[in-house]
Amino acid sequence: MSKLKVLIWNENEHEKIHSEVAEIYPKGIHGTIAAGVAAEDLEISIATMDMPDQGLPNGALDDVNVLVWWGHMLHHLVEPRIIEMINERVNAGMGFVALHSAHHSKVFQRLMGTNCNLAWREADEGERVRVWCVTPSHPIAKGVPQWIDVPKDEMYGEPFNVPKPDDIVFINWYEGGEVFRGGCTWTRGRGRIFHFSPGHETFPVYHQPEIIQVIGNGIRWAAEPHRDGHNLSNLHRPIPLEKGAPTSSRRDP
Ligand code: ZN
Repeated sequence: MSKLKVLIWNENEHEKIHSEVAEIYPKGIHGTIAAGVAAEDLEISIATMDMPDQGLPNGALDDVNVLVWWGHMLHHLVEPRIIEMINERVNAGMGFVALHSAHHSKVFQRLMGTNCNLAWREADEGERVRVWCVTPSHPIAKGVPQWIDVPKDEMYGEPFNVPKPDDIVFINWYEGGEVFRGGCTWTRGRGRIFHFSPGHETFPVYHQPEIIQVIGNGIRWAAEPHRDGHNLSNLHRPIPLEKGAPTSSRRDP
């Protein structure tokens, strides 16, 4: 069995400057997620923003099946080159899993085509979240309970300014009263995208097995459709197929 190549990217800044975050995630948020989702069928690697080329030199994604993205403080510093590289690769079939505050990353905004604004509340004490699985037939919900209780997280609420999702797999309810489409999917070109909102850095959300299970499912689902690496190009077909162009079984370039 060939393994899925998964790259987990984290800006890795909170962990360095906020001791309470470092205590929860001594090996970084990326380290906890990587250890959590580790499995026989996944070949996982790590990239962080403090690495050369922000961890993503040109060509770094060429054979990656799924990119997982956690970012928050440094969205504005991610190189435009990287945004375009990811956008190209997703459209060519790479999966993209955006976690928590990655909703406001430039790459997620690029993929969605909107500002991805939402309602939020300071996380200080956090609040209880019930993550309801509303599409249990979806592959991302496989083996996931009807709901997941997260004891404390930051409130992310509606309206969430994103294009209408293909599927809403999870809806969050917060003890403050808000609701949020906390787990949604989209497709772009040949690629699949999943955003999953639980995971504020000051709470141990990624230590919860059910949360990790959803992320693992999301990785496998996003990897699924097409890995041929061909972008959907703008095809010029001067000769109609019915007039003899021998293209009926040809794969688009
Ligand atoms: Zn947050």
